[in-house]
Amino acid sequence: MQKYVTKVAVDRIYDNARNGIIGHIVVLFLTALLFWNKIPTNIIVIGIVSHSFLILRRSYLRYKYFKVKDDLLDLEEINSWMRKYRRCMFLSGLAFGLMIFFFQGLFSEYHFLILTILIGLSAGGLYTLGEVFSIYASYVLAMLSTALVWMLLQDAYVYTVGAVLIIVAIYYYLSMARRYENNFKQIIIEQRNVAQHMKKQEQMQDELLKQKDILEYQATHDALTGLPNRTLFNDRLEQSIQKAKRNGTHIALFFIDLDHFKEINDSLGHHIGDEVLKVIASRLNLVIRLEDTLARLGGDEFTIIMENVQNVQYSIVFSQKILKVLLEPISINSQKLYLSSSIGISLFPQDTTDANNLLKYADTAMYKAKAEGRNNFQFYSKEMTELAFERVIMVASLKQAIKKREFVVYYQTQIDARNNNLVGVEALVRWEHPTLGLLSPAKFIPLAEDTGLIIDIDTLVMEMAMEQVSKWRANGLNPGILSLNLAMKQLNHDSFILVLKDKMSKHSFKSEWLELEVTENDVMKRPKEAAVKLKEISELGIKIAIDDFGTGYSSLSYLKRLPIDILKIDQSFIRDIPGSEDDNAIVKAVIAISKSLKLDVIAEGVETEAQRDFVLENGCYKIQGYYYSKPMPANEMEEKLKEFNQ
Ligand code: C2E
Ligand code: MG
Ligand code: MG
Repeated sequence: MQKYVTKVAVDRIYDNARNGIIGHIVVLFLTALLFWNKIPTNIIVIGIVSHSFLILRRSYLRYKYFKVKDDLLDLEEINSWMRKYRRCMFLSGLAFGLMIFFFQGLFSEYHFLILTILIGLSAGGLYTLGEVFSIYASYVLAMLSTALVWMLLQDAYVYTVGAVLIIVAIYYYLSMARRYENNFKQIIIEQRNVAQHMKKQEQMQDELLKQKDILEYQATHDALTGLPNRTLFNDRLEQSIQKAKRNGTHIALFFIDLDHFKEINDSLGHHIGDEVLKVIASRLNLVIRLEDTLARLGGDEFTIIMENVQNVQYSIVFSQKILKVLLEPISINSQKLYLSSSIGISLFPQDTTDANNLLKYADTAMYKAKAEGRNNFQFYSKEMTELAFERVIMVASLKQAIKKREFVVYYQTQIDARNNNLVGVEALVRWEHPTLGLLSPAKFIPLAEDTGLIIDIDTLVMEMAMEQVSKWRANGLNPGILSLNLAMKQLNHDSFILVLKDKMSKHSFKSEWLELEVTENDVMKRPKEAAVKLKEISELGIKIAIDDFGTGYSSLSYLKRLPIDILKIDQSFIRDIPGSEDDNAIVKAVIAISKSLKLDVIAEGVETEAQRDFVLENGCYKIQGYYYSKPMPANEMEEKLKEFNQ
C-alpha cells in the first residue's frame, strides 16, 4: 500500500491528544471544585475514575503515536488511529453526560439518563457517517441538548449553575471542535496534497521514463527511416553472433548500398533523397523476415542481419529479391526515379567470427559488387560468389535450356587397344549456352543433380543419342555399344524404366546396343536400392558399367552382388601411371578385381602411349581417352565411324 509522509499530521494529532488530556483534567478539576460540597464523594470518585480511564487511554494513544510519528504512515493506519481516537471521544462524552446526571442526584429521572445515552450514541453514529466534522458537531449537539433538557427540569439555583456549566461545556467543545476540525482538515488537506504530490511525482516519473525511452530510441534509431542505427546494429550483430556461436548456426550479413544515390541528392535535392531513402527502407522492411534486423548505417547504406541461414542458396535468393525490389521505379512528386543497388555479403562463421570483421567484409564485398558493374551482389569470399553466380544463373538458364533443348551430345570412342577396333561410344552431354558458349558437364551436371533437373537432361541425352545411333546404324555405320551416363536420381525415378523402354522402342534400339553408366559414388550411397534398379535394367539385357571406379568406397561384397558388367577405371588413377607407384598399384588392383569378379574393365582418360601400354600390359584392353580421340560432335563422329567401318 502507498505510504504517505504525514509527520505534520501526526504531530497535530499528538498535540490534539495532549490538549484533550489537559482539557479533561481542567474540566474535571473545575467541576470537582465547584460541586465539592454539593455532591456525594462517591459520585465524584466515579467521575474521576471514568475520566481518568479515558485520560489514560488517550495518553496511551498519544504515546503510541509519539513512537511512530517519524515513520511513514499509510492512509489506512491514520484512519484506524482516528477511529480509536473518536471512540475515545465518544465515551468521554458519554461519561460527561453521566456525571452531570449524577451531579443532579435525580436518580429517578431515567428518561434524562436514557436521553443522554441516546444522544451520546447518536453522536457516535453520526460521526461514523461523516469523515471529520460530524463527530464534533454531534458532540456539541449531544451536550447542548443534554444540558438543555436538564435545565428545563431544574429550579432557579441549579439553573444558574447549569447555565455556567453549559457555557463551559459549549466553550470547551466548540473550541475543541474547531481545533479538531482544523487539525483534521489539515490532515485531509495534507493527505490530498501528499496524494497529489505522489500523483504528480508518478506522472513526472512516467514522463521521465517516456523521455528516456524517446532519448534511447533516438540514440539507437535513424531519425529519417526509423530503422535501427549503427549503434543498435552493432549491438544486434554482437548478440546474433553470440547466439549463433551457442547454437552452431550461421549468419549472413548483407551490406546494401544504393547505386549513384549521390546523383539523386545532387540533382534533385536532399529532400527528394530523403524520400527515396524512406521508400527504400520500407521496401527492404517488406522483404526481410521478422527475425532479421534491418539497419541504416548512414547515407544510403543499409545492412541486414540474417540469422539461422540454412544454406548459401537462401542468401542468394534473398539478395536477388533485394536487387529486384530496389530496381522498381520510385515515384516521388509524380517523378519516376530508377535506382539499383549493390550488395555485399559476409558469412558467419565461414568468413570470420568477429562482428567488426563481418561488417568490414560485407562492406568490402559491396565494393566488389560496385566494381562488377553495380546492381549485383557479391560474397566476401570469391568462391562463394562464383558458386552463387553459377548456381543462380545456371539454375534459371538450365531450365530454359531444357525447354529450348540447348544440349548437344558429344561422343567419345572406346577402343580395344589390342586391335584398335571401336567397341563403343560414350555419349557426353554439352550445353550450348547462348552467351557462355559450349559448357562442359562439370559446369552444370552437379547443379542439375542438386536441383533434379538432371532427370530431364538425361532423358534428353538418351533420346538424342539413341536417335543418332539408330540413324548411324540405319546408314550402315556401327558405333558399337552406346554408353549413357545416368544419374542415380534418374535411375530412381519411378517412370525411368518406362521412359527407357519407350525411347528404345521409339528408335528401334536394341538392348545389346546399350550400356548405362552409373558412378561408383552414386551406387554406393544406397547400394541396396541401386541393386534393385540395376537388376531391372540388367534384366532388359542392357549392360551396366560402374563409372569413375576407385573414387568411391565400394564394398567388394556389394560389388559382387550388383548386376554389373564393366568397371571404368577413373581417369585420376590413369593420369600418373606408369610414373606413380601408388597409381600403378591401384590400376593393377582394379584390373585384378574385375578379373576376379568376371567383369569387363575399361580405362578412362588415357592420354599417352605409356599409359595405354601400361593398362594393356596389365590386362585392361578397352581404352577411352584422348590418346584415341576426344569427345566430338555427332558429325565428326560420323566421319570417324566411316573410317572404322571401311
Ligand atoms: P565420365 O562419365 O567419367 O566421362 C568421362 C569424362 O572424361 C568426360 O568428360 C571426357 O571428356 C573426359 N575424358 C575422356 N578422355 C579423357 C582424357 O584422355 N583426358 C582427360 N583429361 N579427360 C578425358 P566430360 O565430357 O567433361 O564429362 C564429365 C562428366 O560429366 C562425365 O564423366 C559424367 O560423369 C558426366 N556426364 C557427361 N554427360 C552426362 C550425361 O549426359 N548425363 C549424366 N548424368 N552425366 C553426364
Ligand atoms: Mg561416364
Ligand atoms: Mg568416368
